[in-house]
Amino acid sequence: MRPEVVAAMMPVFTENFGNASSIHWYGQTAKALMDDARKHVAKLIGAETSEIVFVSGGTEADNFAIRGIAGLKSGGHIITSKIEHHAVMHTCKDLEKQGFEVTWLGVSSDGVVDPGDVKRALRPDTVLITIMHANNEIGTIEPIAEIGKIAAEADVWFHSDGVQASGKIPVDVKKLGVDLYSMSAHKIHGPKGVGALYVKKGTTLKPLLTGGGHERNRRSGTENVAGIVGFGEAAKLAASADMGRVRELRDRLERELKAQIESIHVNAEGAERIPNTSNIMVDFAEGEGLVISLDLKGVAVSTGSACSSGSLEPSHVLTAIGKSPDEAHGSLRFSLSPMTSAEDIDYVVEVLPGIVERLRELSPYYKKKVKI
Ligand code: PLP
Repeated sequence: MRPEVVAAMMPVFTENFGNASSIHWYGQTAKALMDDARKHVAKLIGAETSEIVFVSGGTEADNFAIRGIAGLKSGGHIITSKIEHHAVMHTCKDLEKQGFEVTWLGVSSDGVVDPGDVKRALRPDTVLITIMHANNEIGTIEPIAEIGKIAAEADVWFHSDGVQASGKIPVDVKKLGVDLYSMSAHKIHGPKGVGALYVKKGTTLKPLLTGGGHERNRRSGTENVAGIVGFGEAAKLAASADMGRVRELRDRLERELKAQIESIHVNAEGAERIPNTSNIMVDFAEGEGLVISLDLKGVAVSTGSACSSGSLEPSHVLTAIGKSPDEAHGSLRFSLSPMTSAEDIDYVVEVLPGIVERLRELSPYYKKKVKI
């Protein structure tokens, strides 16, 4: 977390510890802090404050959006893509078991959904389109505004998982034409366990939780005031973060690694991407070996999505863009942020070539290639 976020949260644990639903001074102070945070989160995506519902994170926001729409129907058709985060993918799979029909759209080799495919997939019983704004593994930005127009013309609810996009690129939910938009604080240097769902005015959802009717009857449960305050501070800081500098550092990382290591490729390089994500495929080297070797040097990266680490399944995103299981396993995801320095990049460029060389020496495939 950014130090400013920690500093904003601390008084909520010590002095301003009231329950925001209470009418006494402590409660009203907590509510005022939450109201202020809501303003910053709403502003980050061009929403009204009344359209922000605080939840426990991106996973809940996605579940709330999708199940919230589906829960009002007894069945119907949903359109999504093959590269969604598991929070969307597994929710749609669960709804399939409950009788909904789901169209899983393929993507280009750079991970882009074709809005024409969305249009062609529409049916009279389509109840929801859910397509992510930016992909968490390869960083591809999807054509959300175009899909938004198609959804509006067809009068179908449109949700976008904006967990990786909000705070990284300018977002205006009105221009995007989304009805529902998911966010998560820990992707922008806020705390874990808090997020928000943008619910466009006039959109009715079936709540996931029943209880005291918090968040204007949309999300019951005593609010995580400290988390929300931290999210608000993180959103405020994200609005003025220099993401252009982050993009330059990311591009420099890719350029220098490509210059120093043969047979490496940047996945989704041709697509419009969020500035902080780089997914690099290293031929003839094994992903777990790369991750562990980099970890020993103090560099934390992942193969596939961190959310699914521990799984030996190749990433569904890399598979969807046409990579073989071996290529997917040899892919590394680097995540940068406004807190990344040029020295950090130089360090990775210094240590990675040696690691790749050592791992390739162990690879029978690489030896064969060199002999040829
Ligand atoms: N959606 C995307 C695109 C994500 O990258 C993530 C987390 O990595 C989530 C949803 C889930 O968010 P959370 O970790 O806040 O539950």
